[in-house]
Amino acid sequence: MKIIELRSDTFTLPTPGMRDAMFSAPLGDDVFGEDPSVLALENKLATMFHKEAALFCPSGTMSNQMAISATVSKGQEVICDELSHIYLYEGGGIMANAGASVKLLKGDLGRLTKSQIEAAISPDDIHACESAMVSLENTVNKGGGSVYTSENLEEISSFCRAKAIPLHLDGARIFNAMAVTGQSPAQFGTWFDSISICLSKGLGAPVGSVLVGNAAFIKKAKRVRKRLGGGWRQAGMLAAAGIYALDHQVERLQEDHQRARTIAEICSTLDWVVMTLPVVTNIVIVKIQDGLNSTNKVAELAQKGIKCSPFGVDYIRFVTHLGFDDDDLNRFEKAIKA
Ligand SMILES: *Cc1c(COP(=O)(O)O)cnc(C)c1O
Repeated sequence: MKIIELRSDTFTLPTPGMRDAMFSAPLGDDVFGEDPSVLALENKLATMFHKEAALFCPSGTMSNQMAISATVSKGQEVICDELSHIYLYEGGGIMANAGASVKLLKGDLGRLTKSQIEAAISPDDIHACESAMVSLENTVNKGGGSVYTSENLEEISSFCRAKAIPLHLDGARIFNAMAVTGQSPAQFGTWFDSISICLSKGLGAPVGSVLVGNAAFIKKAKRVRKRLGGGWRQAGMLAAAGIYALDHQVERLQEDHQRARTIAEICSTLDWVVMTLPVVTNIVIVKIQDGLNSTNKVAELAQKGIKCSPFGVDYIRFVTHLGFDDDDLNRFEKAIKA
């Protein structure tokens, strides 16, 4: 039985074209700044997002943490939604790496508004923890792949700029967001001071994330990356996969979104599913019937050849990606209804 893999879009394997690109990539020592493929990837994304510079690193976690440590000082705080990856899933890095505190807000499916942020900024008072960064996530993983509207981002961005508070984006799935909203990388580059972009999620590269920002910021981030052990050598083999993904695997994200909507429709017919979060990108989060336990349900589905993730006690998450095609979707429907 071929497994239907829906636990995460990190399960993608490099396509044949991507493997060829990796094998033939020109290489050098990136710690010396001499890997042509790494430089090409960094240039490509900096240009695309209208930023001065970019930095390639092993993971989205490292990329976010570099941004936080390069921006926020010990004793200051980061403002973000309570569902944020930077808070929930980065090993306490805000505290452990940057020595900073965090102020959590409760948004709508993980999305904050300008008024919420405005109300959360600490007063100019020696008793307060100084607010030194606002961090948004787009799409919001725990929000079921929710996206921000341009109006909302415009408002938040203008506000943060007026208050001189750096605005960071955890854009692990920013290409998924752009695929549905039609927003452009250049717009994101004007809204945000720093953006972390994952190549190893929907884009299908085996490893890697890129942080973009202005030159002084990226210089600082590079020092943080070194300290975190992320100074790497002939990383061009991985960068080449990222370049290939950007050139060939962005448009297909629409297919993932379509299949995610179909999964949600199928799930809505199941008697053990009580509701589905709105599906706009490649993430489907369903709430299961009272009394059922997500871990048990996930184990039961695994018996049917469907792999998905428990997401808290009463939720289950399915994520579509390039390793899940229409055949898999048909098999999914049969198996889950069986
Ligand atoms: C996956 C993910 C990251 C980064 O994860 P890594 O596994 O460290 O690459 C960051 N933010 C969000 C929202 C994610 O989904």
